[in-house]
Amino acid sequence: MEKIKICTASPRETEEVGVKIGMQCKEGDVFAFFGDLGAGKTALTRGIARGLGIEEPVTSPTFTIVNEYLEGRIPLFHFDLYRLSGEEELFDLGFEEYFQRNGVCVVEWSERATETLEELSGRLILVEMRVGEGEEARVITMSNFEFE
Ligand code: ADP
Ligand code: MG
Repeated sequence: MEKIKICTASPRETEEVGVKIGMQCKEGDVFAFFGDLGAGKTALTRGIARGLGIEEPVTSPTFTIVNEYLEGRIPLFHFDLYRLSGEEELFDLGFEEYFQRNGVCVVEWSERATETLEELSGRLILVEMRVGEGEEARVITMSNFEFE
């Protein structure tokens, strides 16, 4: 599988990477984010939203699990599974139905939903984020996404 590695040196740079992704992503894309608290997953999502033409501020849906943004080029469904009690809770959320809604799904804490995500038939893009060397350094590894 094709993998790309991107290093950023500030939150702004991470957001800019997100903008490029948001401008190029397609209906049905599912971005499975992996990585610790503070790795920059929400920052990257903020960029993706901007790239999709969403102006509403993007905040982490930690307590609601999912936020929906419908004003852009393609709808964005932003999940944060940090507080998920178990994978069966995804069923109550209608998690899988979101994948059929012709939007873009971004899933923070995909670690919590690996079994469900593995069964997805659509395009799954794995995004791993981690802290790099230096306070504001972040390393983003993406598979299955081609930048133009
Ligand atoms: P996560 O959603 O992965 O928990 P957030 O995006 O909410 O992470 O927060 C990332 C934190 O790290 C923010 O406080 C941000 O200012 C800081 N930060 C420092 N450098 C970067 C960088 N290069 N990219 C993204 N965030 C960064
Ligand atoms: Mg977050």
